[in-house]
Amino acid sequence: MTISNRDIKTIYFCQRKGKLDICSSKKTNSTVLFSTDVFGCELVVEPDEILSTSPVVVKMKKSGKKLNNYHFIEGAFIGYVIESAGYNVGDIIFESPHYSTSMNWRVYVTKMLSFLSSFCEHCGNDEFGIVKNQLCRTCKYSSDCFRETLQTDSTAFIRGLKGGTSEKLRELGIESLNDIVSMKEVLERELGREKAGRIFYQAQSILGNKCIPFKPLPKLSNGMYLDIESYTPIDFDYLFGILDDNTYVPFLARDPLEERETFESTIAYLMKDNRPVYHYHSYELERFRKLAKKYKINLPNHLFGRFIDVYKIYSECIALPLPSYSLKTIARYFGFNWRTNLNGFVVIDSYKDYIDTNDENILSEILRYNEDDVRATAFLVERVNQMREMMNINDSYISDTPG
Ligand code: SF4
Repeated sequence: MTISNRDIKTIYFCQRKGKLDICSSKKTNSTVLFSTDVFGCELVVEPDEILSTSPVVVKMKKSGKKLNNYHFIEGAFIGYVIESAGYNVGDIIFESPHYSTSMNWRVYVTKMLSFLSSFCEHCGNDEFGIVKNQLCRTCKYSSDCFRETLQTDSTAFIRGLKGGTSEKLRELGIESLNDIVSMKEVLERELGREKAGRIFYQAQSILGNKCIPFKPLPKLSNGMYLDIESYTPIDFDYLFGILDDNTYVPFLARDPLEERETFESTIAYLMKDNRPVYHYHSYELERFRKLAKKYKINLPNHLFGRFIDVYKIYSECIALPLPSYSLKTIARYFGFNWRTNLNGFVVIDSYKDYIDTNDENILSEILRYNEDDVRATAFLVERVNQMREMMNINDSYISDTPG
């Protein structure tokens, strides 16, 4: 098995995914300059830039605001492999738009080796369990993992069941999906009706492979749909996509200097009437707040009152037999198809490619992706209304006339 420094982040969060990714990748040795063997695995370094060869100085380009724990393991991995390959190691630089640092990698070598030893040892035994983590949402293996948890009656993908809650239930003998369903009263007593209900209906939904609306659904009136694309390395919101009356209206900043004007145009468009503004999850609201503060723009008081988070409706009222409640996972479940293969992470790399190449085809693909996101949000709003109609639910807890 060949492990690259680029696999470290994945292994750090999910050894299972790390192994699957490594086994399915076709690493070629033609471009590898630095490699060594350890624990029966080949370790290779794939630097973003080599600034010097004697001593070896390499640069790794990152996008986040600060270094994370796995960066130190990656730094130690790089230093260790280069030195073991017989070279003098100079600086190992980690750089993002927010920091640039020469890694003190030697102090992390012991930790890195113990991390790798545990991974390589378990790889041979095929012992990686399924533990829900931050990579699951966009992971290509999520359907397989989800099926496996169903076969083993595991609660790994039950939302809201982690850390202390999971521990508490285990102490009460609630360890499987079937336990959850058969011990509803115990759940309610321990977690309260609200939380217990969400967990109970989700387990029921997974076991029965069906969608279960378990709370009154709101009637959602005709509105606009909003989705923002950001280039996170420089905190730049470059695209505000709106779907209005089935027409896609993109507000595009071609340069960070245009961000303010584009944001103001988006606000002006949204303020042309008082309809709800549907978005998926809290990101749009957060970015509006942040941009308003950044540019000292007084947003009209009632604008945020018109924002309706579609994720919240699904999360609080509808149990689905799915590994995640991301827009893509839910909309695909109901039959919506995206025209591109982009996702929230890949689109950031695509935008970087666009900046580097000025290739308008890349930008067109990003626009198509953003358009599909707002169309998917509209599709899910429509599904809520259909479910509501089918169930003849008349209660409403979101006002039809927000603001
Ligand atoms: S779905 Fe989650 S648990 Fe399964 S391999 Fe992917 S990241 Fe790991």
